[in-house]
Amino acid sequence: MAYRRNKTSDTWHFCRNCTLWPTTNVVEQSGKPTTGELCNQCRSKDSAGNCNR
Ligand SMILES: [Zn+2]
Repeated sequence: MAYRRNKTSDTWHFCRNCTLWPTTNVVEQSGKPTTGELCNQCRSKDSAGNCNR
């Protein structure tokens, strides 16, 4: 699973259908991030079962 954030943000996203999914200034990594925070929207999509990874 890929995690993405914008260079200007500490918030990591992991759902491609997140409305805040970064498409510019992207920092990407494959493992779970150890710094910053996970996006609340991604987390709620994940728990609702509609996170598009
Ligand atoms: Zn997100």
